[in-house]
Amino acid sequence: MSKPPALPPTTLRGIKLKAKTLSRELNIPHSEALEIASRLSGYQKFQHARRALKSSSDVMPPSPKIDPEQNSPAENSRAKGARMGIKMNTANDQNGVEWNADTYQKGMGAEPLKCSHCCTAVTFNIPHTREMYDKPVLVPGYFRLLPKGAHAANCPFGVDDEVNKLAKSSEGLIESIQQDKYRMRLVMIKEALEGGTPKNPEPSGTRAQTGRTYTSNPGLLPAYINSASRALKLRAMCESNRDIEQHLELIFEGNVKVSWDQFYFESARHMEAYHAISQNSTQHPIALEGQVKSIRTELKGDTTKNVMNLQMNPFRIDGDDANNGIGLEVSVWAPQGAWLRGINPGDEVVVLGMWKCNPGSASPAPIQGGRFMTLTKRRLSLSLVLKAQITKVESVLT
Ligand SMILES: [Zn+2]
Repeated sequence: MSKPPALPPTTLRGIKLKAKTLSRELNIPHSEALEIASRLSGYQKFQHARRALKSSSDVMPPSPKIDPEQNSPAENSRAKGARMGIKMNTANDQNGVEWNADTYQKGMGAEPLKCSHCCTAVTFNIPHTREMYDKPVLVPGYFRLLPKGAHAANCPFGVDDEVNKLAKSSEGLIESIQQDKYRMRLVMIKEALEGGTPKNPEPSGTRAQTGRTYTSNPGLLPAYINSASRALKLRAMCESNRDIEQHLELIFEGNVKVSWDQFYFESARHMEAYHAISQNSTQHPIALEGQVKSIRTELKGDTTKNVMNLQMNPFRIDGDDANNGIGLEVSVWAPQGAWLRGINPGDEVVVLGMWKCNPGSASPAPIQGGRFMTLTKRRLSLSLVLKAQITKVESVLT
């Protein structure tokens, strides 16, 4: 699934070729693609790239020596670890000048750069692309800590400080286990969600009801969900699951540790979430991150039938039948239309809860003569108990 990260071009010709690809893939004008490709290569504008590279045709540009550690962090961090911290969009240089990640390029400020709040050393991550729904999306540049670096206590960019605040208001959902280490009890979220409201049963509900004693307090559900939602926001501001994992561990029934990879699924891993849920290997709440595709309210005039669908990944070939394509649709049902107000197509959200799956069945593809003769649409669905189970995410802390 994960491809080795492609290095940004280092020649004018390379930048132009990259722009061609980007223009096609992102469906943007060539001129705009040239600007993006130039930024990917460490230049602020295409004009700069052209000026710098023209005179010394086909040599390395001056500033962006590509350090593989810093390129495509989402891919690398999972494999290599040791990259901590929230993305920041401002930093100060040694002369006290504040720089903004949108316009910064390596070498502009007097390095090493510093956190604008606590002065710990930070570095600049150049803009890069990552795959989302099989298309490259631009991840803007940002500042981050150096490996093994840490923000000072009370720095708003420190994860520790944020988790610490979170723990204090979480009614026991998140507890401190040692210095800089916290744990979140997923079982409390599950029990509160299931004990809270049987008022909106999902029509296609298949989940077995098991006898269970509730140790958590359903009355505290809003507090649990709000705390969990803040933890998810924090995760979304980090590059990878590993970044948050070292500070906030997840435990389920019997104090079994759950890895963040089994709890938090970005869009590219939706099918993995489906497999975990359908094979019943995951019974704890899980969080799915994705982009909102559509919001429909009051289906067939029923005020309790409101649904938000996430963008689907393309259909993939069925391992058992090469003529069949398999896709996955993620749907979130709300008992009131108002719960979905303020969320718009294109927004990035994380939805936390107990998901149900439906394997679907193969039906003729709507367009014949395409890649697949039949399509199977699998489904993951969730009925909201609280609006706060949906968290809108921002990728950079400002
Ligand atoms: Zn700081």
